[in-house]
Amino acid sequence: MKILVINCGSSSLKYQVLSMENEALLAKGLVERIGIEGSVIKHEKIGMDKVTKEVPMKDHKEAIAQVLEAIQNPEYGVVKSMDEIGAVGHRVVHAGEKYSESVLIDDTVIKTLEDCIELAPLHNPPNLYGIEACRNLMPNTPMVAVFDTAFHQTMPPHAYLYAIPYEYYEKYGIRKYGFHGTSHKYVAQRTAEKLNVNIKDLKIITCHLGNGASVSAIKYGKVIDTSMGFTPLQGLVMGTRCGDIDPAIVTYIRKKENLAQGEVNNILNNESGVLGISGISSDFRDLEEAMAEGNERAELALRIFALKVRFYIGAYFAEMNGVDALVFTAGVGENSDEMRAHICNELGNLGIKLDLMKNKVRGKETVISTDDSKVKILLVPTNEELMIARDTYEIVNRLDA
Ligand code: AMP
Repeated sequence: MKILVINCGSSSLKYQVLSMENEALLAKGLVERIGIEGSVIKHEKIGMDKVTKEVPMKDHKEAIAQVLEAIQNPEYGVVKSMDEIGAVGHRVVHAGEKYSESVLIDDTVIKTLEDCIELAPLHNPPNLYGIEACRNLMPNTPMVAVFDTAFHQTMPPHAYLYAIPYEYYEKYGIRKYGFHGTSHKYVAQRTAEKLNVNIKDLKIITCHLGNGASVSAIKYGKVIDTSMGFTPLQGLVMGTRCGDIDPAIVTYIRKKENLAQGEVNNILNNESGVLGISGISSDFRDLEEAMAEGNERAELALRIFALKVRFYIGAYFAEMNGVDALVFTAGVGENSDEMRAHICNELGNLGIKLDLMKNKVRGKETVISTDDSKVKILLVPTNEELMIARDTYEIVNRLDA
């Protein structure tokens, strides 16, 4: 069976087509500037050169129509007709407390996700546009929703509740949800496979370090804590997000800078993080370059980022009473040996010893700890799309059974 995976953002859309018999990637692509002048689709059939096409796309339905055209194109497509696509897997950011696993999409699921819009006003609406557009264009193809929040639903109440009046949890669902769940789940499973140990026997800390970043504590296959919270703003310092700060700062800045409703939120989400500290860039490559040229604020931003990751490693070490594996993934985690070295520096007392030679690697699944390190340190490139395709395949196969 071939599966189309869709990850819809507000003005962009990523997609992949996978053949599930051997989990082979057949094609992938990106649509950018949906609803904005200069809409473009970049499509790549694996093994062929990338095709870039500028076409006006006023909404997600038109964008999905272009995706369907590309994957059926006689020259660079991968299917003859849409009948060959057995199912579509959609990435959905927020399912609140409703779903702890991926689900087959029907009208009830759509309604539930609409109810979750308040919890993820930036993310859930475009996810829903993508689902609607696909349902319109492929009314007979089963669709599955795979949620960023689902894997974290195993957290116990003492990990997910905030120390604010309990009624806000009851009335508004204010609690820690956690995000990047699909990635944390994938790398934890790969870690268990790579170490050849049952995941139910492992305590794992997964560090998803990209532009958005989060750390999870996965004890015996279940998340017991994660660094992102009610929204993806909590936890680590990120590209442009502040992560953990004293909540009193919010009202203080608002008053001092005489800001309108929502502006502080914008500052903390889009103008903070390593960008805010360095004043240069949210991109870690730019910061590493600037640091090498002696830029002190860039160095400071990277130090603060690393410190926060170390902070969570220590916290989760305590929460799980030990760790068997520490895993790095996503853009920074997979590519920056410098950042990994910085994070793991002098953690020997926790049994965490990075092998600096083995660490000189990028984007490859491998063990990078010393032979005598009690905690195995791994680099595992994430693959959220494959995880979405797997869940979709499994759910659709159950339908056919
Ligand atoms: P992601 O959100 O997972 O796509 O990660 C994006 C982040 O990864 C960006 O800040 C990039 O600068 C960073 N990144 C990608 N490659 C490298 C690299 N070779 N060294 C440092 N950071 C990198």
